[in-house]
Amino acid sequence: MKSLIVANWKMNPESAKEAKALFSAVKKGIAGLNKKIDVVMCPPYEYLGLLKGLILGAQNCFYEEKGAYTGEISALMLKNMGVEYVILGHSERRRMGETDEQINKKLVKAVQAGLTPILCVGEKKEDKDRGKKQEVLEAQIKQCLGGITADVVIAYEPVWAIGTGDNCGVDETKESIDFIRKFVKTGTRILYGGSVKSDNSGSYLKEAGANGLLVGGASLNAKEFIGIVKSAE
Ligand code: PEP
Repeated sequence: MKSLIVANWKMNPESAKEAKALFSAVKKGIAGLNKKIDVVMCPPYEYLGLLKGLILGAQNCFYEEKGAYTGEISALMLKNMGVEYVILGHSERRRMGETDEQINKKLVKAVQAGLTPILCVGEKKEDKDRGKKQEVLEAQIKQCLGGITADVVIAYEPVWAIGTGDNCGVDETKESIDFIRKFVKTGTRILYGGSVKSDNSGSYLKEAGANGLLVGGASLNAKEFIGIVKSAE
């Protein structure tokens, strides 16, 4: 199975010029490597049409196909502009009120449009402290994947590890990934995400059983991100 390394730029950078420069630097740095590793770049929507030469993903999409939904973007619009993947259910969106039911509807539309969804699941610190981690993961997976038979990618992203520098330990990550595997089809790629850097990335792939990584902050630094991709070789 090819490793999958996903860059989630979130709401960065501020200009198209910076976006193009970052994208080009990554493209140059991983030339050749991306034949062995799938590298997916997820910039904000407005840069998707400007960036060429690497696989593109979006950070979200809407659960209706078209119509009076001001500010929303459909899965088919993304597909029609050459996008192949879409991140769904990121904890930063769940924090803004997105529910498992809405995420499930988005997955349905993404699959219908021919996009590969990257479904994010993960427990909050309080879930972990109350011993509810597995219960939360199981509920998120079952509800978000309800009725979906297509191939999807799962990203295990403990909420407390995202953007905090407090990356999840390798043993703990392995335990969660092994647990998630019980609820998904054989062959499903399960990524780890949460404060991944070039000096910890290899351990998730080699020791925790992750099939790839979802990288936020470190994907905004070309050198760091290239180092992360290289650790998957
Ligand atoms: C993310 O955005 O999904 C993420 C894991 O962010 P970071 O790498 O900054 O923790």
